[in-house]
Amino acid sequence: MLDSGHTARRLESYVQGRWQPGTGEGKPLANAATGVTHALISSEGIDFAGALDWGREVGGPALRRHTIHERALMLRAIGKKLMEMKDEFHAESLATGATPQDAWPDIDGGIGTLLTFASKARRELPNTKVLTEGAVEPLSRDGTFVGQHILTPMQGVAIHINAYNFPVWGMLEKIAPSLIAGVPCLVKPASQTAYLTELVVRRMLAMDILPVGALQLVCGSAGDLLDHVTGQDIVTFTGSAATGQKLRTHPAVVGNSVRFTMEADSLNASILGPDAGPGTPEFDLFVREVQREMTSKAGQKCTAIRRVLVPKQHEEAVIEALSARLSSTPIGMPDDASARMGALASVDERDGVREKIAVIAQEAEIVFGNPNQVTLVSGDSSKGAFMSPVLLRCDDAMRAIAPHEVEAFGPVATVMTYDDLDQAVTLAKKGKGSLVSSVFTDDTDVVAAMVVGLASFHGRVMIGNRDSAKSSTGHGSPLAPLVHGGPGRAGGGEEMGGMRGVKHFMQRTAVQGTPRLLSAVTGQWVPGGPSRTDVHPFRKALAELRVGDQIVTEAREVTREDVEHFAEFTGDTFYAHMDSDAAKANPFFEDRVAHGYLIASFAAGLFVQPDPGPVLANYGVDNLRFLTPVYFGDSLRVRLTCKEINPRENAVYGEVRWDCQVTNQKNDVVAQYDVLTMVAKTWPLEET
Ligand code: NAP
Repeated sequence: MLDSGHTARRLESYVQGRWQPGTGEGKPLANAATGVTHALISSEGIDFAGALDWGREVGGPALRRHTIHERALMLRAIGKKLMEMKDEFHAESLATGATPQDAWPDIDGGIGTLLTFASKARRELPNTKVLTEGAVEPLSRDGTFVGQHILTPMQGVAIHINAYNFPVWGMLEKIAPSLIAGVPCLVKPASQTAYLTELVVRRMLAMDILPVGALQLVCGSAGDLLDHVTGQDIVTFTGSAATGQKLRTHPAVVGNSVRFTMEADSLNASILGPDAGPGTPEFDLFVREVQREMTSKAGQKCTAIRRVLVPKQHEEAVIEALSARLSSTPIGMPDDASARMGALASVDERDGVREKIAVIAQEAEIVFGNPNQVTLVSGDSSKGAFMSPVLLRCDDAMRAIAPHEVEAFGPVATVMTYDDLDQAVTLAKKGKGSLVSSVFTDDTDVVAAMVVGLASFHGRVMIGNRDSAKSSTGHGSPLAPLVHGGPGRAGGGEEMGGMRGVKHFMQRTAVQGTPRLLSAVTGQWVPGGPSRTDVHPFRKALAELRVGDQIVTEAREVTREDVEHFAEFTGDTFYAHMDSDAAKANPFFEDRVAHGYLIASFAAGLFVQPDPGPVLANYGVDNLRFLTPVYFGDSLRVRLTCKEINPRENAVYGEVRWDCQVTNQKNDVVAQYDVLTMVAKTWPLEET
């Protein structure tokens, strides 16, 4: 249907550096709430092979010319501008059937995820083009042959195929880690809601912040896209398990060992603990959460609660409380402020949900709602994709199949009962792997038994109770710092999870060689590599400081008076420092020993250059280990070497990591650690 006052927008793909409408008339995409044609979509005539080549040959090299922090700063700039434009996105989102509350996690949550990645990358990753992982592994006795894992960006394209329910978040949560990793993206949103993704991509590209070729968009079907993937490309898929399995086994994906992540549907469970009966805060929280998960985005969330597991004795109370809440959830037009639930994404989707309910209802009875009837506060149920929430009850959950396996992707959930904790876990596992489960309990024994039982079948488990009720982010929200994904039926994928998500788009390579040459690859000093001992390195600003700059200090003897003074001064009179007999009785010591922190303090006293200078602050140490006891009369010496230099992009300083090794008179290493400092880019300090 096309009404007289509305012109359907013709969507375009952005490939090979230009916006291109597909050929042909285009498939009409209806406004979910009115049924009016909102947009036309076609990818016919798009050169998919050319698009991938363009990404590999233009976008990839351009991104890889930048450091991780530079790429993260691009995303930060984009995220900030998108935030300013979000009203426009919210207006467009109404056509998807989502209310403004539903659109919040998609639009604001999506931009927030982009910004979180941009800031975490600058906090947690070095400002380099190559990442290292783990320690340098000694591979020879004489130290001339060592090994180190490095991570470099894959040199293909990250193809992100997304589901229709999160047109903005689904794109941003995937492109953020890929672009930070240095891999260009080709986004293929689900057709049904592609108009919103297209609008956001249009705005992003108009900002002219990303290098040419870094971001492409295909609106419409994927055509022969996957025929052209190579072993350097990465495919991330979000959608139904059926489509995912088909794409995962595509001959080019299998034949080229293409990295393929799948986030599929999932029959997520929420479990009410036996302790959380009516009258407890946990009972109320549970009922509220189930109702919210059933109705937000009209239940079209991959993380929504589909199975409601309750102790037998609380079944009636749960159904009664849930039904009361569901019946007071007004359903209507997405822009009607009185509506709490909008429409499903399309009439076809709604019809699909009705069919799935019919399958589940063969093993369960409907206890709330009628799939074919809905009362609206606004809108027309004969035109828009509206439906009532539907709650089912399954009496024989241990034997039933459909309630554990059939995903009705709408406002639908099934209540099932359990007899004991083991059975609750067994029922949850009948989902064959889920994105998330939640457990509502205030009992430590219940939570320990349940969460450990559930964990291997889930990507995330949320514990709900009275203490976190106000601050909890809830069952249904994947969060940028935590992994999103689940085993088995849920697709076996893992997305986000902070910087793990970035590393997914990089290749881990073990590099072996001599320290000097390995250091040239990683940009980090490797023990045994070349060093320079001219000016004290604390006198050098970043402009002069080089990896390998070193100071080897004079020796300092540790006396009994030093140890006793330190003990009295700090209050650390632990017996191993103070009592010879007690120290000797300890399996590690031959006599009284110096405090480890005294050693670290003496080390600082030995290596420091005290005058005001480019070293601005010491912000900590990493990996501190005391390796050999220090006895009275031992003599300590420090070797401090500049290990890694990370200039900050928008600051007058950068971080410098120093390898600090403290040895005794026998050359035994007594302490080893990294000293972390902030160092000025130039000295005297200049505002840049
Ligand atoms: P879908 O029908 O499986 O489609 C997902 C995506 O795959 C769409 O972009 C679709 O494009 C594309 N696609 C379909 N056939 C293809 C082919 N032969 N080659 C390449 N691409 C192809 O899923 P949906 O209906 O959009 O989304 C609903 C499902 O997604 C639900 O089952 C839900 O549980 C799941 N989901 C999972 C997550 C998660 O994170 N785990 C998140 C959201 C949704 P077209 O639209 O153009 O056909």
